[in-house]
Amino acid sequence: MSVATHGGRAKCLQRLVRMEMPVPRTVALSFDAVHRVASGVMPDMTSLLVHFGATALLCVRPSSEEPDWGGPGAVLNIGMNDTHYADLSDQIGRAAAASVYTRFVQAYAIHVARLDPDAFEHVIEDGPEGLAQVLHAYEEETEETFPQDPAVQLAEVLRSMARAWEGTTARLLRQAKGAPADAGLGLVVQEMALGMGHGESGSGVIQLVDSRTGQPRIIGRYLRQSQGREALDRREEALFLARDPRGPSLEELVPEAFADLKRMTGQMRAKLREEMQAEFTIENGVLHILDGVRVARSGQAAVRIAVQLAEDGIIPRDEALLRVEPRVLNEMLHRQVDPGAKRDVLATGIAASPGAAAGKIVFTAADAQAHAARGEACVLVRRETSPEDIRGMHAAVAVLTERGGMTSHAAVIGRGMGLPCVVGASDFRFHARRQMLVAPDGRELRAGDVITVDGTNGQVLAGEAPMIEAAEDDALNTLMGWADEVRDIGVRANADTPGDAQTARNFKAQGIGLCRTEHMFFDADRLTVMREMIFADTSPDRAAVLERLLPMQRADFIELFRIMQGQPVCIRLFDPPLHEFLPSDRAGHRELAEALDLPLSDVTRRVEALGEYNPMLGMRGVRLGITVPEIYDMQARAIFEATVEASREGEPVVPEIMIPLVSARREVELVKTRVDAVAAAVRNETGRDFTYRLGVMVETPRAALRAGEIAPHTAFLSFGTNDLTQMTYGLSRDDAGRFMSTYVQQGVFPEDPFHTLDQDGVGELLTIAATRGRDARPDLVLSICGEHGGSPESIAFCRAAGFDYVSCSPFRVPVARLAAAQLAVRDKIR
Ligand code: PEP
Ligand code: MG
Repeated sequence: MSVATHGGRAKCLQRLVRMEMPVPRTVALSFDAVHRVASGVMPDMTSLLVHFGATALLCVRPSSEEPDWGGPGAVLNIGMNDTHYADLSDQIGRAAAASVYTRFVQAYAIHVARLDPDAFEHVIEDGPEGLAQVLHAYEEETEETFPQDPAVQLAEVLRSMARAWEGTTARLLRQAKGAPADAGLGLVVQEMALGMGHGESGSGVIQLVDSRTGQPRIIGRYLRQSQGREALDRREEALFLARDPRGPSLEELVPEAFADLKRMTGQMRAKLREEMQAEFTIENGVLHILDGVRVARSGQAAVRIAVQLAEDGIIPRDEALLRVEPRVLNEMLHRQVDPGAKRDVLATGIAASPGAAAGKIVFTAADAQAHAARGEACVLVRRETSPEDIRGMHAAVAVLTERGGMTSHAAVIGRGMGLPCVVGASDFRFHARRQMLVAPDGRELRAGDVITVDGTNGQVLAGEAPMIEAAEDDALNTLMGWADEVRDIGVRANADTPGDAQTARNFKAQGIGLCRTEHMFFDADRLTVMREMIFADTSPDRAAVLERLLPMQRADFIELFRIMQGQPVCIRLFDPPLHEFLPSDRAGHRELAEALDLPLSDVTRRVEALGEYNPMLGMRGVRLGITVPEIYDMQARAIFEATVEASREGEPVVPEIMIPLVSARREVELVKTRVDAVAAAVRNETGRDFTYRLGVMVETPRAALRAGEIAPHTAFLSFGTNDLTQMTYGLSRDDAGRFMSTYVQQGVFPEDPFHTLDQDGVGELLTIAATRGRDARPDLVLSICGEHGGSPESIAFCRAAGFDYVSCSPFRVPVARLAAAQLAVRDKIR
């Protein structure tokens, strides 16, 4: 018998029997047998029933390969009929016997005969009257008496459970949870241990750890004179298991049974190599173990359980690493809406940055800052965000946008900052001017109203939902240490600010893989200088203004180098179109005219002249670097001067400089010549030597295809898969959110390609570039720095393609480290 032929529950019970646990007699039907039952071929009922005593009551439980795939509910007390009722009344009393019979009739009527539940669920009387009522209802509805033959009852139960599993809805539901279309169902037929009787009788559930934290604790309840999982459903009446100041316990009531139960659950853990929840009954003082299932667990508990099993020598460390789904770490690293809380969902958008936060709605970055200054939590609500909103985002506790997808501005910045973020929430109607949001159900929300943004699942909730805090967890640190020991692909972080860099270090990133320098220019004092630079008429004028930005950039880089303590820092030269730094409305133009002491018309004309039809495909990235070279000159100088400065104290810094949006070899040659010249000048001026690495960001399809001729001029290629996806599909990363869900629902795209790397198309470009690049230059360092860098599937792809490292948002670094470790472990096993 194996999990693949009979399901997990059957296998578990078989092992419990072999461990000589007091499991009532059990027979398992295989997937094949159950499949035959569904198509009308019944097993021989006589030979099935022969395993059990003539008067035994039975139960049937589902046994699928994975417990998460669901399955029909268990049916208890099969075999109850009028004769048995009379016998049982003598043994356990009439009222108790009637309730056993009643429950069976109810379950049979609803789940097997598929009668209207309303006629059976609301039994007014207890005891014999209630029984009479349900038997009568059964006869009314079916025009037949309730079946009395146990063989018929059992056959019908088996048939209905087998058919329920093969129904379309059940199949779709489990396929959504990852089950294959032909997943099988096993059934377990077990003799009932009643949990009702004259002596001490009852039923309960026990586990040895807390499902939320994973900490060792005896959890569960015991309810006298009960069956199944009633003890959990009727907690107020139930007893605690271990001694508890809140009330009476099984430990006090039946100490020997409690001690046995605790010992047996511990044995299950050791032998089944898993934290188990046991279902048990006590029948006239005798303990029976009916079932064992894997303890349900939060992400935090999953980590602690896996680590503890390994530390107790029950499983090897490699297996502990495989036991934790990397994505659950996201859950642990951010505050979350309490999973037990009621959710008043206003609308759902794209879950762009995990974690949850509640605050008052604000519609502008300035309002967000004003709230922050007053110490009030606020949620920044925008159609979409732009670089001008960065300070507002820093001031807010969460961000909600109407437009955008996984790589829109709000999403990227939100993830980078660890700020909960929902984008593309187009179910809301946004009335930007009236500063109002209207939910699909008509509820109106205005500035000052409190909402909760749940960036983990994309929901926006009314009011302030109860939260649970992020876990600072020693078990997680241990697991991550083990992950780093086996991992064979590097993990760096995308970090733009000292705060990001610190987070990256805390999460043990192996350096910065992408520092987007333009974000450094949005501080109020720098923005004005930046604008002056944009308005400068001549190259010398421009250089003079840049001279003022130089010390600020230098200070930025010194700080980054210091925080990263000798780890590599890859700085991307200026990337966005210049007009992103200019105000977009008339009031802004006026302010700028005042600041620069220019006529308003000059400012307006200049802003208009900088406008582009397609700014993302226009003068940005290296194109700007070549057309307005003073900017890159200044940045290169700031990087080298900071290198000299930071190397004075500690280990020598080896900066990496990355050129964005390259599409032709000549671009690289031109920039390289100038950067080399700046390096020579700084070496001369300071009298200090240093090295640096110059690399190319591959984010246009042409750069990928021409990697062979670019590689000889560059130390590394880093794939910017956000732009590369945008350009490969010809799909705007800022607008795709509008129709992405339709596209995915209709199966045009299997997933949002901005979220999950398109391995077929974009991936092919990556492979072509990697091969051509390495052919031309075998020591070429390869990496990915687009948002995909943090997802387990992309990491698998990059590792298989021979990449040296991935770089992702700081908060995704632990997920990436674990995912990478799992790949290495799986390779070892293979
Ligand atoms: C990219 O395009 O993949 C990238 C990392 O750069 P950005 O998101 O800043 O365009
Ligand atoms: Mg890019």
